[in-house]
Amino acid sequence: MKATQGQFAMLFKPFFQTTTIPIALVDFSGRIQETNPAMQILLGFPAEEIEGRNLLEFVAAEDVPATQALFRNMVPSGAKGPSTEIRCLRRDGQKLTALAAFFKIHDQNGDQESMILTLENLSDSRQAQQRFNDITYFDPLTGLANRLLLHDRLEHALTQAKRAQGMIALLMININRFRDINDSFGHAAGDQLLNEVSNRLRPCFRDSDTLARFNGDKFAIVLDKMPGLAPVSLVLRKLLERLGKPFSIGEQDVFITSSIGIALSPGDGKDSDSLLNCAELAMARASKEGRNNYQFYTPEMNARARERLRLESSLYRALERSEFELYYQPQIHPANGKMLGTEALLRWNHPTRGLLGPEEFVPMLEETGLIHAAGRWVLHTACAQAKAWRSAGFPEMRIAVNISARQLLHRNFAEEVAHALQQSGLEGEALDLEITESILMEDTELNAEVLQKIAGLGVHISIDDFGTGYSPLTYLKRFPVHSLKIDRSFIQGIPENSDDMAIAFSIFALAETLGLQVTAEGVETAQQLSTLNNWQCNKAQGYLFARPMPAARLDEWHSLELPQLRVCSDQSQN
Ligand code: C2E
Ligand code: MG
Ligand code: MG
Repeated sequence: MKATQGQFAMLFKPFFQTTTIPIALVDFSGRIQETNPAMQILLGFPAEEIEGRNLLEFVAAEDVPATQALFRNMVPSGAKGPSTEIRCLRRDGQKLTALAAFFKIHDQNGDQESMILTLENLSDSRQAQQRFNDITYFDPLTGLANRLLLHDRLEHALTQAKRAQGMIALLMININRFRDINDSFGHAAGDQLLNEVSNRLRPCFRDSDTLARFNGDKFAIVLDKMPGLAPVSLVLRKLLERLGKPFSIGEQDVFITSSIGIALSPGDGKDSDSLLNCAELAMARASKEGRNNYQFYTPEMNARARERLRLESSLYRALERSEFELYYQPQIHPANGKMLGTEALLRWNHPTRGLLGPEEFVPMLEETGLIHAAGRWVLHTACAQAKAWRSAGFPEMRIAVNISARQLLHRNFAEEVAHALQQSGLEGEALDLEITESILMEDTELNAEVLQKIAGLGVHISIDDFGTGYSPLTYLKRFPVHSLKIDRSFIQGIPENSDDMAIAFSIFALAETLGLQVTAEGVETAQQLSTLNNWQCNKAQGYLFARPMPAARLDEWHSLELPQLRVCSDQSQN
């Protein structure tokens, strides 16, 4: 059926006025006769400024020929003619891209009189598409390519390299201890750091390389068409230099360290997944080797990684399956052999590998962030056990709990300690938190604040493995420290090794000057004990007295073995 102008006016007027499709009625000379509100909004002109003017005045010069061709090619019937993309000129000077289509309409006799122009705004849908692409392929925080785009680009680069027999390098960069920055400065500061990192990375590469945020604190770079290894080492040097400079986070300057893993194709892998995997393994190795390090992938990394991964995945379930257990090692008064307390030491009853010591899994707990949940469990369990012992006839029993740096840096750590005390009913002074020197070296305001809060609960703070850090001792004055726990490596050399003797002795002298207590750990011989006793050591702990043991065994040990030990130590003093 053919539409006539009369019918158009009658039937379509309400539609014409209300539709969101921009429509204009145009005569055959191109003069605009009428426009609907949608067209006026699209072009940004009121009706009176459009109507009567030639349609071509609203078309960008470069698209005028295409618009004229569209006129000419209009189909003779009332059917929809071909459409074409044109750029229209808006009143505000902007060009917008629209899909233009013309329809002929006829008068009642069926003669051609006018045509209808519809415009479909493509800018909106293009923007929507662009937005969609941005969300899908780019990281919203840094604006870098995301993991998906990295995959695409890597695949593309690999296909090209295969054809040209070229080389590709994939670099994976990890910002070490980023989680600590998030925990101690807050997430906004963490975001700021990631942005700053990506800004510093960008200038290190050519446009053809792809820099992506792989996830969290990991970045990946595809170096395409590498002639050899020389450009890779140049990039590595640039990266380490740029990331080695301080970052300002809020008011503070923060130094970060990074670990970089490198995998090369075709040598290490020919598809994107295996190459990414190799680069990640190399990166993990680099971070183990120390700060600001890089490592090229080697095949033996794979076998180790598989084993580690197996252990890590079972670690995730260890807490809920109640596979963790605390062992307790007695701490003894060297002079009178009385038990003063115990140190709680974490063990993992692994379903297939048996009893594992903390060295095998605590670093993994820290890396995965599981240390928060596991540490909370340790704290609560140890406090509850200490309370039980105090109520059952050891009123002076104190409990020492090891705290990792990551736990202490957590914002709510002091509240967690308070909660554990409150839940167990244990007095604050019965709890001794062992932290390492490295934590205090960081010397952030947060550390001081958290430790003050903890000390405010009456809880004691000890420096574990004292003497092993290369730290200036000034921190001892700034933080509320109560005692020093001499590392067992110094105790081992007593009395034969004169260096160890000198170091251990000077720690006692330092403690005395600062009014701190001293605990000796790793005491294995009666000779060591008597030397320590001469130095007024407050507490001793070691295999000489007992190895760490489950709570139930400790009760037995206390009643059966400790009395004999006391006799021995009395004799050793004579
Ligand atoms: P640490 O706090 O310095 O604990 C003392 C370590 O020395 C314990 O090893 C203990 O079994 C061992 N030891 C005690 N007496 C002797 C001795 O006479 N000779 C020798 N050779 N060794 C002795 P363990 O239980 O393997 O713990 C190792 C480390 O794991 C601990 O060192 C501590 O840093 C960490 N750790 C243990 N439990 C936890 C925990 O619950 N949380 C955290 N974050 N770390 C923990
Ligand atoms: Mg300890
Ligand atoms: Mg220690």
